[in-house]
Amino acid sequence: MVAGKRVTVLGAARSGLAAASLLRSAGARVFVSEQRPEEAIKDTASELRSLGVGLETGGHTDAAIDADLIVVSPGVPSSALVVRGAVARGIPVYSEIEAASWFCRAPIVAVTGSNGKTTTTVLAGEIFKNGAGAVPARRVFVRGNVGDAFAGIAGEARPGDIVVLEVSSFQLDHVERFHPRVALLLNITPDHLDRYDRSFEKYIASKMRIAVNLTPDDALIYWSGDEVLRREVERLPAGHGTKYRFNIEDDGAAAAFVREGVLVLRLHGKEEPLIPPAEIAIKGTHNLLNSMGAALAAWIMGVTGDVIARTLRMFRGVEHRLEFVAEIGGVAYVNDSKATNVDSVWYALQSFTGRRIVLLLGGRDKGNDYTRLLALVKENVRTIVAIGESADKVVGAFQDVVPVVRALTMEEAVKAAQSRAGEGDVVLLSPACASFDWFDDYEHRGRAFKKIVGALPK
Ligand code: ADP
Repeated sequence: MVAGKRVTVLGAARSGLAAASLLRSAGARVFVSEQRPEEAIKDTASELRSLGVGLETGGHTDAAIDADLIVVSPGVPSSALVVRGAVARGIPVYSEIEAASWFCRAPIVAVTGSNGKTTTTVLAGEIFKNGAGAVPARRVFVRGNVGDAFAGIAGEARPGDIVVLEVSSFQLDHVERFHPRVALLLNITPDHLDRYDRSFEKYIASKMRIAVNLTPDDALIYWSGDEVLRREVERLPAGHGTKYRFNIEDDGAAAAFVREGVLVLRLHGKEEPLIPPAEIAIKGTHNLLNSMGAALAAWIMGVTGDVIARTLRMFRGVEHRLEFVAEIGGVAYVNDSKATNVDSVWYALQSFTGRRIVLLLGGRDKGNDYTRLLALVKENVRTIVAIGESADKVVGAFQDVVPVVRALTMEEAVKAAQSRAGEGDVVLLSPACASFDWFDDYEHRGRAFKKIVGALPK
């Protein structure tokens, strides 16, 4: 398929390297083009050269678009000059998951949405792993934004295995034949509009590309409580997957719902009561929805209700997503550094019934509109500690509703929060912003928060 073709891979980070190596082993003539200078990617550069791959560093030249096709890493935006140049010349541009999927013989469960992708992907992966004993040869690969790149294992996955894939809208921008067996759409709310010319419609269109190649033998699972998502799914031409919807309330045709305090799955008229939502280890309405999506994906693929219920009781969530850090002097400290948009904070603010919140909010703003949070903040938040580059905007947005104090470092922010929190309160880092003003990434921000909390006097 790609043998003998000239393929350029844009970006030499983890997924670029994996894609280059996969394409090279399939006989393509691969050239990698990287923005960063050679010194920044020394090890990768020597690895690529040893594979017989051409490489340019320090920027993309015309050599990059002298190719039969281009594979673009998720970190390179569609608006980048080099991508636009390729598109203008009619050179096909594909994402890493698209290219990797050409080589993958295992069924793919693909998870997308604005929020909850990682949690749901990892949870679904755990359910499949716990259920794999019943299918002895089955190996479960969990890939995408989580862990290693899909391209790293696509070639070795066998038809009896399963690949659970977290898929971002950037990856979906450039798919053509990508064909999951199960597509799970969690929600669509504004995020990353900086990469979509500020157009919500473009962002929606990109998410919906997960369904382009579905046939009636495939499953399209979605949350019908999300109006945008429901509208988009209803608009899909017939035959784009058999549709299964989940919602907390049953509308008579939902495939997962809560009835009389029990989470129930229903397929083709058969019902499977799982567990009471209160017994699910990850908390909050959003996590109940994530659990429903993961449970349905697994059930459709043949995992039993017992295995699903057992996993839901055990799975404690993923680091930096409403992660409990410590309880000090009756105050709980929670790290939700991955909350990089307004919607995820909205859910976080609802996840602590009966407790007041001291909220650390701010960072690099991606065009946030905070009005959606005002009512919840008024109800549940005692004080906001404004952090990062966008502290002024945070002060302006909330000062009429709750006290807002400003902090110039994470340490100052945690101390300010501690001094304002009363017994029974939650100090919550849920910033609604990217982290690149003060930190390398959200993980760095979350670790900094945890370290400072860890050093507080007990
Ligand atoms: P993603 O991979 O889509 O960014 P994560 O699972 O990493 O999703 O969670 C990101 C943030 O969104 C966390 O703050 C988490 O608590 C919150 N979140 C998780 N699931 C949902 C959901 N279904 N709806 C809204 N927010 C969610």
